[in-house]
Amino acid sequence: MDHFLYRDGLLHAEGVAIPDIAATLGTPFYVYSAATLTRHYRLFTEALAPLPHLVCFAIKSLSNVAVLKLLGDLGAGMDVVSGGEYLRAKAAGVPGDRIVFSGVGKTREEMRLALEGGVRQFNLESEPEMRALSEVATALGVVAPVTVRVNPDVDAKTHAKIATGKSENKFGIPIARAREVYAEIARLPGLKVVGIDVHIGSQLTELAPFEAAFQKVRELTLALRADGHDIRRLDLGGGLGIPYTRSNEAPPLPTDYGAMIKRTLGDLGCEIEIEPGRLISGNSGLLVSQVIYVKNGEGRDFLILDAAMNDLVRPSMYEAHHDIIPVAEAIPGSPTQPFDVVGPVCETGDTFGKGRELPLMAEGDLVAFRSAGAYGAVMASEYNSRPLVPEVLVQGDHFAVIRARPSFDEILKRDILPEWL
Ligand SMILES: *Cc1c(COP(=O)(O)O)cnc(C)c1O
Repeated sequence: MDHFLYRDGLLHAEGVAIPDIAATLGTPFYVYSAATLTRHYRLFTEALAPLPHLVCFAIKSLSNVAVLKLLGDLGAGMDVVSGGEYLRAKAAGVPGDRIVFSGVGKTREEMRLALEGGVRQFNLESEPEMRALSEVATALGVVAPVTVRVNPDVDAKTHAKIATGKSENKFGIPIARAREVYAEIARLPGLKVVGIDVHIGSQLTELAPFEAAFQKVRELTLALRADGHDIRRLDLGGGLGIPYTRSNEAPPLPTDYGAMIKRTLGDLGCEIEIEPGRLISGNSGLLVSQVIYVKNGEGRDFLILDAAMNDLVRPSMYEAHHDIIPVAEAIPGSPTQPFDVVGPVCETGDTFGKGRELPLMAEGDLVAFRSAGAYGAVMASEYNSRPLVPEVLVQGDHFAVIRARPSFDEILKRDILPEWL
């Protein structure tokens, strides 16, 4: 459920009509609903209660500091995968003891940054990284709390580019080697074991792969405890999928996911951490765009938008589907027509959808991409020298620009001419 509904014939974000935002800011832009973000975060905390838990929002899915502050103020922790994301979490006022540092290749500089600023734990992904962190922590005179991300070798049954839990993927340490690796951590002076971490992929639409992975984490918890390690936290990663179309079968709900966690791990006396990104942010955002031209081609008509693959890359990168809907509500029974919906960038991959049934459209009409809150704005670029797409946050009847569109002046100023040119 989200808070993007038609009212009086116009698409609204909560109480704000989308054309009102477009009139102020121009197009394209991302718009997020505070009520939807809040609701999705709470679904997880409610699903995990009464187990001790922390829901750490995966910043990489949507990293605007205003959104992080909204979630942080509700009590959310943050899952970061870079020094930049760590600084965003801090800028949003999230205390270090609610920030989990994940990622395959943390640099020593990033480790130092987090150890100095405060961190809940590092999720380690390799032995060289373990040794580096121990050295950095020792040099600072501190001990770093760590988990090891284990790779359980389960098939997440999702898109190949976002599956991470098979042994062929670059992520984590093979679970079969985990006891050896934990034994080495116990010998390193700068590290202290606090738990186990696992994350098997993104946009999972079934619970079974999660359950298979968590079952293996359960067995490992018992084995590591028998080896004398203090396993008190289980970080179960993110990855729960969302519906991208209103017709497809519904992915599992957070309540079912929470019940499964309680069933498989609830009796271990561990604090549960999860790192959802997409399920909190995905359906909390729209990308709004304007029709530049309607172009009649041979056997097909193109809707040429002012949004492009640089603003929303998921369709060209992952063959992802986003529902595209008119901002002016279609009158029931009025004619529709199929459009190939494209952006103006010089790549055939700059296609958002083919044969999309839409009402008859004209230049200047607004459309909205649904489910664009996650991996949308964060993956945007300025390819074709198109200004980075701005972001808006709606709460109730008001909206705020939370990232302005840069001017061409600002963009051009970033390039530096060498004096010898
Ligand atoms: C990407 C990622 C997440 C979030 O995944 P979602 O599918 O957006 O929930 C969580 N943890 C780690 C380590 C990740 O890399």
